[in-house]
Amino acid sequence: MFNSLSDRLNSTFDKLRGKGRLTEDDINAAMREIRMALLEADVNYRVVKGFVAECKEKCMTAEVLDSLTPAQNVVRIVLDQLTKLLGTTESRLTLAQNRTPNVVMLVGLQGSGKTTAASKLAYLLKKQGHSPLLAACDVHRPAAADQLETLGGEIGVPVFRGDGKDAVAVAKGGIQDAVDRLCDIVIVDTAGRLQVDEEMMQEAVDIKNVVKPDQILMVVDAMTGQDIVNVVTEFANRVDFDGVIMSKLDGDARGGGALSVREVTGKPIKYVSMGEKPDSLEVFHPDRMAKRILG
Ligand code: GDP
Repeated sequence: MFNSLSDRLNSTFDKLRGKGRLTEDDINAAMREIRMALLEADVNYRVVKGFVAECKEKCMTAEVLDSLTPAQNVVRIVLDQLTKLLGTTESRLTLAQNRTPNVVMLVGLQGSGKTTAASKLAYLLKKQGHSPLLAACDVHRPAAADQLETLGGEIGVPVFRGDGKDAVAVAKGGIQDAVDRLCDIVIVDTAGRLQVDEEMMQEAVDIKNVVKPDQILMVVDAMTGQDIVNVVTEFANRVDFDGVIMSKLDGDARGGGALSVREVTGKPIKYVSMGEKPDSLEVFHPDRMAKRILG
């Protein structure tokens, strides 16, 4: 992911490096190229506009233009702005100290990677010394509970299935089961649809109202492209969520969604998933990602 964006940005910087001193025209040309590169990477138009305007303002200062290493300064400014766009600092899962079990609820479209993310998050928390339990509240996709049970079995984490019919009852039952088993975190996997739909949203809201999650994470497929903005906005408005798990960052999509989501929703990316294995979920570091994009 981001390969083409990295190449485009670096070729822009290379052109600047060939010049001893930069003029306003040079900066304008570079900003045009950065704008095109981001748009072609599927970054949301409004996000690109704001990003380029801020970069340009910071580059058009005498301090940058008259410096001995202007190209280096431009690269630093773009790196800083990219880090800011991605959220500046890492944002960890916030768990309540005075509640056991804590409840983390996952929402998102079908196929976004929710069920696998639930098990990966359980694996990560287990490695940190927690004792998680998975609640299979996706009662609409028949194979979802089986899939979760298989994944839970692989990582040694219990899965609560309940009657497999009423998602709210399964969530409540999962919490009780966690109390009985002395588990300290319940991860609630909810149902998605192929597109945003009222029934899915209402069910997520119903589960939220009953189990009062400590954290709601939206699982977003990094391959979604431009439509990602509408999807996350709908979820933010209806269910509200605390952060994002960005899945499938190992794919070869253009990655614009991953760059837009923070700016569009104001919610941090908390984790990134880069594969199908249990250990492929990582805490998201904006600065590292920005550096990776700039190569
Ligand atoms: P759900 O419908 O949201 O529960 O989605 P699933 O968890 O079933 O995932 C849908 C598909 O995406 C499955 O084939 C997963 O193995 C795959 N998947 C999930 N996360 C990742 C990831 O980070 N990278 C890759 N390459 N595949 C993933």
